Amino acid sequence: MIDVTIDSRSGFCFGVVTAVKKAEEFMTENHKTRLHCLGHIMHNAEEVKRLEKLGMTTINHTQIESMDPATIMIRAHGEPPETYDLIKNQNHKLIDATCPVVLKLQQRIRQAYLKHPDKQIVIFGKKGHAEVIGLEGQTDNTAIVISNNSEIPEIIDPNKEIILFSQTTMPLHAFLEIEKLLHGFSNKEIKSHNTICKRVINREKELSEFCKNFDVIVFISGKNSSNGQLLFQVCIQTNKNSHFISSINEINSDWFTDKCTVGVCGATSTPLWLMEQTAQAIKNIFD
Ligand code: SF4
Repeated sequence: MIDVTIDSRSGFCFGVVTAVKKAEEFMTENHKTRLHCLGHIMHNAEEVKRLEKLGMTTINHTQIESMDPATIMIRAHGEPPETYDLIKNQNHKLIDATCPVVLKLQQRIRQAYLKHPDKQIVIFGKKGHAEVIGLEGQTDNTAIVISNNSEIPEIIDPNKEIILFSQTTMPLHAFLEIEKLLHGFSNKEIKSHNTICKRVINREKELSEFCKNFDVIVFISGKNSSNGQLLFQVCIQTNKNSHFISSINEINSDWFTDKCTVGVCGATSTPLWLMEQTAQAIKNIFD
């Protein structure tokens, strides 16, 4: 008989839990008022659909200007200062669900920028990612964003001091490599701040331990989640029988035998109910 186990440490981090809770609370208390979330509340289409049924609408930045006054929520990724100004100037109400870890990082970058206008603020992160846009905004968009080490000689001045930060969801090993390369490249002082979320750092080790225990791993996450992409790499490095799915329709019965053990896990934005549905769908194949 197939044996399926859900990873008890997979799923929402507290930043996402808090954002979802704030959205649910608002929609319960204000039945007739729609909540407008700026960008998808998380990179998980199934969970977004569930919240949309409760009264949430996902909007983009352009819509802020054209909408009648409404309630707008900033999600856990955070936003640059100009978004706050725009919401206020258009007389919208704001629910700020920026994760406290991201908020603290925004403040640190802002302080570094104001205190050291002569230094290069470098952010290791994904260009265009919502969190990174919020971080760049703290420096009036003067920060240098690097996504990989090949960009260092192209965009960084070796004769100017550097203050290095990281997007909260980047892989630790990649950050340490960037840090090392910058030290070799720059002729000036480098102040490096490892600002990767502890939840993300610990997650890799815990997930790797989990994946060792099963014949097959099914990892469920939104395809756009950078945290999901990163954590799936951890799964596949530990267990080559790992499969990435975004919905239970993608489960392939050929991956399993009736006697195999299966581990079900996910990203920090994967809801528990989705992992439970996945586990049940796998069990149903052999029922
Ligand atoms: S991964 Fe960390 S920084 Fe990002 S939302 Fe979750 S708790 Fe906050």
